[in-house]
Amino acid sequence: MYNPYENVLKVMDEAVKVGGLSTDTYEMIRNPQRELKVYLPIRMDDGKIKVFEGYRVQHSNIRGPFKGGIRYSSFTDLNEVKALATWMSLKCAVANIPYGGAKGGITVDPTELSKGELMRLTRRYTFAIESIIGPDTDIPAPDVNTNAQTMAWVLDTYSMLKGKPSPGVVTGKPLELGGSKGRTAATGQGVVISTKLILEACGETLADTRIAVQGFGNVGSYAAKIAYEHGATIVALSDVSDAIYCEDGIDVSDVFAYVEAGNLLKDYKKDGIKHISNAELLTCTCDVLIPAAIENQITEENANELRCRYIVEAANGPTTEEADEILEKRKIVVIPDIFANSGGVIVSYFEWVQNIQTLTWSEKQIKEMLREIMAAAFEDIRQEVEKSACTWRIGAYIVALRRLITANEVKGLFP
Ligand code: GLU
Repeated sequence: MYNPYENVLKVMDEAVKVGGLSTDTYEMIRNPQRELKVYLPIRMDDGKIKVFEGYRVQHSNIRGPFKGGIRYSSFTDLNEVKALATWMSLKCAVANIPYGGAKGGITVDPTELSKGELMRLTRRYTFAIESIIGPDTDIPAPDVNTNAQTMAWVLDTYSMLKGKPSPGVVTGKPLELGGSKGRTAATGQGVVISTKLILEACGETLADTRIAVQGFGNVGSYAAKIAYEHGATIVALSDVSDAIYCEDGIDVSDVFAYVEAGNLLKDYKKDGIKHISNAELLTCTCDVLIPAAIENQITEENANELRCRYIVEAANGPTTEEADEILEKRKIVVIPDIFANSGGVIVSYFEWVQNIQTLTWSEKQIKEMLREIMAAAFEDIRQEVEKSACTWRIGAYIVALRRLITANEVKGLFP
């Protein structure tokens, strides 16, 4: 069975070896600092009480407060959250923003809950983890199946418990409550920035590129829309219900509006649009494949069938370590999640800085600063890839782990 935490450990071990990194404190990074499991009793709309399981894993705060999203999914368990928390530490280290890594989750299918039930669940979860989160300790954000509304509930519950408004306790919150301009689109924006950076480094342009995007949630929808606005041809898209394909390119603005109005792709009908399976989307002919759904999508089962030249990982952990080996042999360039989807947490950082200083920045400023941070991180990875003659994933891991290990060594071990 696929184990995301084992997967991340294997890649980290390999990076430490390839990068010749110091191993004295590495064992500390192979383990999280804290795992919290909570049981959440909720009064359901039918009057019955149901108990849900929730988690918060704090992987590392060596480089700054713990940071990372909260996801609601029936597949979520402690092991997944542990892997996701570790990826957050690596992601913040690659971007070189002053955060550690954490992740939270509740094992629940949110589509089965009413809005009221979701609100009660979110508030109870916040209450249960209240003692370990805070604007200078651990800052949650949205992730799979959570959004600005979820963050508003977390913020309100936390602020009520503390008896004062605490906007800096979460990021990705609504603008009205101290959210940042540009945060909703930020992860997708960052995915397009990373796609452009790798294409340009290889002498290509986004406008001449054919792209397939798996997943049409917050990340995939904005990545597809922004790439489309930059002139890329989007040949395939998918959501939970179905996948669509069009050789000549999909009108993404139209699909975006269609899905935003509450529709599913399975019902989308337009001339030239073919309905295909999710497996067919992953293996369709394109230049760039953007997996923007969940983990474990590109595996040893389908890695040999892919017909793209680049993979830009918008989701966390979409590619298994076994698939990576096949892709490397096939010379398919993989831009890893810990860089490719870092736009979300980078703009979260901007949101938090604005909250702490009671400032408001324009969308233009946010976009420029995001581009700057991502370009610098890309250059750090590129140099490492050149120096160590390794894949982009290993290069990114080396950059991240070197920063974490150095911070640990300078700090020394308590007591
Ligand atoms: N959930 C997003 C991620 O996986 C954003 C996290 C954040 O902004 O803290 O990167």
